[in-house]
Amino acid sequence: MADLYPVNETFLSWQGEGVHLGRKAFFIRLQGCPVKCAWCDSASTWHPQHVPKDLRRASAAELAAEAAVARPEFVVLTGGEPCIHDLTPLVAALRDVGLSAHLETCGAYPIAEGLAWVTLSPKWAKPPLPASLLRADEVKLIVETAESIARWTEAVGGVWASRHVWLHPEWSQRAQPEVLRAITDHVKAQGAPFRAGWQVHKPYAADSLDQRARPPAPLGGDPGKGF
Ligand code: SF4
Repeated sequence: MADLYPVNETFLSWQGEGVHLGRKAFFIRLQGCPVKCAWCDSASTWHPQHVPKDLRRASAAELAAEAAVARPEFVVLTGGEPCIHDLTPLVAALRDVGLSAHLETCGAYPIAEGLAWVTLSPKWAKPPLPASLLRADEVKLIVETAESIARWTEAVGGVWASRHVWLHPEWSQRAQPEVLRAITDHVKAQGAPFRAGWQVHKPYAADSLDQRARPPAPLGGDPGKGF
């Protein structure tokens, strides 16, 4: 029997961030992430209190067939951290039904071949592999404080290989004037590859309109709470 993927949720929505913003997309959120960021907005993929008890397991062919019914422009493989799973069969199954696969990853684990688009959002708890940074079509930096952009730029040796480096306010800081000002100042000073970003699907609540989507785990932004 083919390997089964642990599936946290699937849903039809639109891509809420990055270069492909606003495009119809089918999301496959796989279960599990060993990185455990303090402010993770997918805490249900790893936090003991939020890991679903009724975890679905599905084959690559089953997931591809479900995605095809939704007739999206592309499929987003996300998590958790999807690259802890062998994505090769899933990418191939999607290709067999005429769908391209996009990936959202922290970049700390090897990236499968055959993906049409890779979004890499590096995390301090487990920094990205150099090869993953080179592969990324776009980078999404989570700006937690005004210093985050300079810290990450220094961490990669001052050079970003990707043509698009999005600066996203960490969601619990999205109204912090210092964080927004740091992003604005940086884009105005540097220009490309930096771009000011936002998670547009959240105010729309676009994802949760699909009944297959799980209610989001509470956003903590509080390491004391574990998420
Ligand atoms: S790497 Fe991503 S999925 Fe994993 S804990 Fe951090 S934000 Fe959440």
